Amino acid sequence: MHRISEQMRDNMKSKMGIHISHDYCKGCSLCVSFCPKKVLDVSQELTRMGVYPPFPRHPEKCTGCMICQNICPDFAIYVEEIKETAHPV
Ligand code: SF4
Ligand code: SF4
Repeated sequence: MHRISEQMRDNMKSKMGIHISHDYCKGCSLCVSFCPKKVLDVSQELTRMGVYPPFPRHPEKCTGCMICQNICPDFAIYVEEIKETAHPV
C-alpha cells in the first residue's frame, strides 16, 4: 500500500487555477460580483469578442468554491486545483 507521508503532505501545496475563455465570455461580470473572496476583477482590455472579461486579480485568495464556475451562463470560466510539490523529495 502506498501512503503519503506526513512530510510529503506538508511539502504538497495546492493552489487554484482559474481559467477564463475569451471566446465564450460575454463580459457580464456575474462571476466577479458573486466571488465571495473578491478574487476576480474586470480587465481593462477588450477581448477580440469586444467584451471586458474577468481576470484573477487575487488568485491566492481563491478557495475553489466554484461559485464563479457554476454561475457563469456561458461556461466560460472553470477552476481546478493544482497540486505542487514545494520541495521535491
Ligand atoms: S460569468 Fe462568465 S460570461 Fe460572465 S463575465 Fe464571468 S466568465 Fe464572462
Ligand atoms: S472558485 Fe470561488 S473563490 Fe475562487 S474565483 Fe471562483 S468564486 Fe472566487
